[in-house]
Amino acid sequence: MASKELAPFAALPDESKGRVYKEEKSYYRNEFQRDRDRIIHCSAFRRLEYKTQVFVNHEGDMFRTRLTHSMEVAQIGRTISRALNINEDLTEAICLAHDLGHTPFGHAGQDALNMCMKDFGGFEHNLQSIRIVDLLEERYPNFQGLNLTYEAREGILKHCSQKNALKLGKLGERFINNNKPGLEAQVANIADEIAYNNHDVDDGLRAGLLNMSVLRKSELVDNNYAEAIKKWKKLSERQIRHEVVRRMINYIVSDLIENSKNLIQKYKPENIDAVRENTKLLIKMSESVEKKHNALKRILRKELYEHEKVNAMTSKAKETIHYLFNTYMKGSMFTTNELQEKIERNPENKNETKKARIIADYIAGMTDRYALLEYKRLSSK
Ligand code: MG
Repeated sequence: MASKELAPFAALPDESKGRVYKEEKSYYRNEFQRDRDRIIHCSAFRRLEYKTQVFVNHEGDMFRTRLTHSMEVAQIGRTISRALNINEDLTEAICLAHDLGHTPFGHAGQDALNMCMKDFGGFEHNLQSIRIVDLLEERYPNFQGLNLTYEAREGILKHCSQKNALKLGKLGERFINNNKPGLEAQVANIADEIAYNNHDVDDGLRAGLLNMSVLRKSELVDNNYAEAIKKWKKLSERQIRHEVVRRMINYIVSDLIENSKNLIQKYKPENIDAVRENTKLLIKMSESVEKKHNALKRILRKELYEHEKVNAMTSKAKETIHYLFNTYMKGSMFTTNELQEKIERNPENKNETKKARIIADYIAGMTDRYALLEYKRLSSK
């Protein structure tokens, strides 16, 4: 999409704040298309296929993984961006990259790794996504990482503690100054919530951990259920589930687009910097729909994320991560020499904090099944 077709407050590729390492322009693709393509081709992106969203990958082939979740986020984000005449390519890039830094085993894995790292600077999955695209991917001869544009990196770093923001230089400034990111980043953030709220309803019902009568305590589910049943009298359970989820996504996304149009109209940002300086987010659902969306989120937390079967996975995940971390910290127990060499190559890595960070990067990059295999290999020694 040529820059001139986009709204003036969109992220315009020709006016990007650029990349850390200067590169020649591509003849066929704009800067944000290149960002998206770099993300799709990187190895952390492929590993998302075998990382838990809510259900561990080997529990069933039908559940969302981090990869399919990221694709659904991108689909929703692109729809919103196109409707608002902002940069669809950049939104897509941010959406596809937003979960790159997740550990195996979902939030349980991240909490466990954060515990392991508590004396060594902690672990935040969001910050890890930035480490991956800035540092850990090895794909280019002349720099580390993917060398993404500032706008893509700004969007990927969704949240960050003040302490870590200070270490990030220009990228961390907005968390200190309380500025907002560009609209494409705001879209990606909310598309993430819309995607998981809705697909977790679908997966939770499919897994039998949720049932429709519990979910209908949510006004959002109940209204869309009633409409679906009224229109289609003889639906199977599966068709009802899909129809309700489809209607909910459409309802929320439509509200979000219209409400955001009104906010943009009200604040009239002249360009992306005006968006950043605005004290309010401009991509937002209406108050009443946001309330309904949050109510559904609370039901999911109580009935699904804290379900005993999900919790059983959580305990196993935590045990696995702790065991791997402690074992690696003790000595050369890696499958390949690569990591040991990396630690030994630089004498500074004798420092426990540096060593712990290399190990955390390694564990965070694992898929669920690789982490389990490593656990098995090490614990049988
Ligand atoms: Mg996500």
